[in-house]
Amino acid sequence: MAYDYDLIAIGGGSGGIALVNRAASYGARCLIIEQDDVMGGTCVNRGCVPKKAMWYSADMAHAIRNAPAYGFDVPQAKFDWSTFVGKRQNYIGNINKFYINSFEKNGVDTAFGHARLIDKSTIDVNGKQYSAERIALAPGGTPTVPDIPGKELGITSDGFFELQSQPEKVLVLGAGYIAVELAGMLQALGTDVTLGVRTQKFLRGFEDILYENLAAAMQADGVTISTEFTAAKIEKLNGKLTVHGEAGQELEGFDEVIFAIGRTPATSDIGLKAAGVEVNSRGYIPVNKFQETNVAGIFALGDVTGQAELTPVAIAAGRRMADRIYDGQTDRHLSYENIATVVFSHPPIGTIGLTEAQAREQYGDEVNTYNTSFNPMYMAFTDHKVKTAMKLVVVGKEERVVGCHMIGLAVDEMLQGFAVAISMGATKRDLDDTVAIHPTSAEELVTMR
Ligand SMILES: Cc1cc2nc3c(=O)[nH]c(=O)nc-3n(C[C@H](O)[C@H](O)[C@H](O)COP(=O)(O)OP(=O)(O)OC[C@H]3O[C@@H](n4cnc5c(N)ncnc54)[C@H](O)[C@@H]3O)c2cc1C
Repeated sequence: MAYDYDLIAIGGGSGGIALVNRAASYGARCLIIEQDDVMGGTCVNRGCVPKKAMWYSADMAHAIRNAPAYGFDVPQAKFDWSTFVGKRQNYIGNINKFYINSFEKNGVDTAFGHARLIDKSTIDVNGKQYSAERIALAPGGTPTVPDIPGKELGITSDGFFELQSQPEKVLVLGAGYIAVELAGMLQALGTDVTLGVRTQKFLRGFEDILYENLAAAMQADGVTISTEFTAAKIEKLNGKLTVHGEAGQELEGFDEVIFAIGRTPATSDIGLKAAGVEVNSRGYIPVNKFQETNVAGIFALGDVTGQAELTPVAIAAGRRMADRIYDGQTDRHLSYENIATVVFSHPPIGTIGLTEAQAREQYGDEVNTYNTSFNPMYMAFTDHKVKTAMKLVVVGKEERVVGCHMIGLAVDEMLQGFAVAISMGATKRDLDDTVAIHPTSAEELVTMR
């Protein structure tokens, strides 16, 4: 059968873009379909990129506050939200253009509109149909909104990036990395933030030292943490939002309420039934190690598969899939083990591999840990001290490092190099045999006892 394309990707985000560009570089005829007006997906338009730009602003706010401790007579500056948002969106616009140029350069065709499968090799976009030998589903997901009265009064991370002026008082609902990142940035920039968490803790599933240190740092920055709070209803009274909790609590006086309670895969309206593609009970598309779904010729990658929902993961899965199919690199696939990740909180968190609890489940008594907690030298001068904490999880007599968990200044940039070593099977001895760089915080990782 003659197809219009060798490969079509639904979704012009991190996964889809990486896949078609790599496949086209091997000569495959590719089409990428995106329902937004611009390419780039969540990461570029309403995720990692605008978030990291704001994180830099927040970081600068901390630096300005600390400047007098280093001898600078700096007036405490006011942040101009709309000026910054204009610059940020300009930067994003350039990335959007870069993607279009990359498609032109690689000979990838583009289509804009909502795509739906009609059968296992045909897709409909606004009444126009395209066929392909292979189809890759990379539609990502959307922020989850709780089904409670007044939910339309709240916004999500998407709405947060659309705000044109700075809210004075905000409630962030959620316990994951997006919730703590938004809460930390807003507070640093001068908004009065409350973080509403369903249980006693946030960042569940992370090492306890990360949660404990971050909770202390956020509270010291002025964030109010409201635990055991599950929103039941939102009301607007005299122009301000009041949120009622399930246990009868009331949090009030907010300009914005941000839902950061999770994400929902975008699988409800892409014609999966018509093509016979299965989803699991949470709406994600299960795949094998080659990103293959249950239907031959249909693949899925990125957030929609529900595995490590991160941009570099979606990119790596897409590129490896193209290497395998169009460049004959048999068995090339992404391993989902040892994926390093950073939470852009204040201070940041960096983590890779198993937590102590996970390691004990897998290896029992063979597990040992090394821990350190200290005031980094930067804080020696500042009034406001933010601790750094690190934990290594090692296994067996040879003490292979299976987990590394850190919170503190600069750990976001520190982790990548250690991730290489850990992915290569580094032992504690390998770290100890590495001569330290002094004076840094990173040296603690190679001198822990
Ligand atoms: C606030 C926030 C911060 C984040 N920060 C980070 C970070 O710091 N680091 C990190 O690694 N990850 C981060 N992420 C996660 C990261 O954005 C995702 O893991 C990544 O974008 C997933 O890529 P994807 O290709 O699977 O999906 P997406 O990037 O979501 O792309 C999917 C695209 O498909 C389109 N689409 C959906 N359905 C259809 C359809 N039927 N037809 C046509 N087009 C369709 C969507 O419009 C979208 O553009 C963040 C996410 C959020 C929300």
